[in-house]
Amino acid sequence: MSTVSAVISRQAVKHNFARIQSLAPNSKIIAILKANAYGHGLLEMAKTLPDCDAIGVARLEEALALRAGGIVKPILLLEGFFNPSDIPILVTNNLQTVVHSLEQVEQLEQASHLQGQLTVWLKIDTGMNRLGINVQQFELVTSRLQQIDLVAKPLNYMTHFACADELNNPFTSEQAQQFYQLVDGLGGELTLANSAGILAWPETQADWIRPGLLLYGCSPIIDRIGSDDGFIAAMTLSSSVIAVKKLSAGDKVGYGSSWIAAQDTTLAVIAIGYGDGYPRHAKDGTPVLINSKRYPIVGRVSMDMITVDLGPDNVSVQCGDKAIMWGQDLPVEEIAKYADTICYELILQLTSRVKIKFID
Ligand SMILES: *Cc1c(COP(=O)(O)O)cnc(C)c1O
Repeated sequence: MSTVSAVISRQAVKHNFARIQSLAPNSKIIAILKANAYGHGLLEMAKTLPDCDAIGVARLEEALALRAGGIVKPILLLEGFFNPSDIPILVTNNLQTVVHSLEQVEQLEQASHLQGQLTVWLKIDTGMNRLGINVQQFELVTSRLQQIDLVAKPLNYMTHFACADELNNPFTSEQAQQFYQLVDGLGGELTLANSAGILAWPETQADWIRPGLLLYGCSPIIDRIGSDDGFIAAMTLSSSVIAVKKLSAGDKVGYGSSWIAAQDTTLAVIAIGYGDGYPRHAKDGTPVLINSKRYPIVGRVSMDMITVDLGPDNVSVQCGDKAIMWGQDLPVEEIAKYADTICYELILQLTSRVKIKFID
């Protein structure tokens, strides 16, 4: 038996997938399963989503793990290949690749003796200034790619948004407009939208959408949670209460004695800490759910434990009770705010000490 567990509801993930389909009924879906499916289990999530049209990952190792696990669907490397020696591996394993730089184009030209067809998504930088070729390079890059036999034709086109989670920021529309203008009439498939794009900017859904976070039931939109838009949190992170004790007014709690009881109260110690991936920066007041009631963290998060204030009149919480750190009844989006981070980071930074369990 492991102390800390992350229970993943396959049914919630299936529900979220269906919800995405209903939001973008005319788009095919690249399910984004990078970073161990945002901490939810790469292969398990691939098997939970038999209806997705393709899978997106960030690393060749992730793609090969899916192939080794028997997944035969199209897989797209979102950042493409990093070394020329990866190219034959892509061809052999039927992996699709993003091309975002002239260096990659050169490497493909040098690999043009390889037999086979490589599906390419040309990534265009429309203002994020991370990966992608810029508008000035577009003509040159497309004409060179057209001449490589190994590269399947027509080319497909992609861009990525910088601010799609900000509902009042016009930059997403500007990026989309620039992209649509550039690729107008070229044929090939188009993809722009991540989760925030799918939700907030439906005009960006195009041929393919690329949902990550929404599959897991969390919201990418500032100040919203997944359930606001009909999604269900797939992960429930829990541990147990390992001590309950009385404190007197003035007693100090934890490292640095940073919290001081203002009144006589009762404290619960819960077996979870930053050694499990619970954020060390979770502030005093971060809620924890015990027997369906919220209690605030008091004192610093330690490696293996946190401490919560049960209040002066506690009768209900006892040693051995289950404590929930986040899940359907305690949104991880809310915990992320208390920890000055985003829910993406929380769900995927759990350590190997946490047992992942799957339920239907
Ligand atoms: C990670 C990623 C996504 C998914 O983003 P979400 O916000 O989780 O939906 C989509 N596209 C690319 C290129 C990515 O790297």
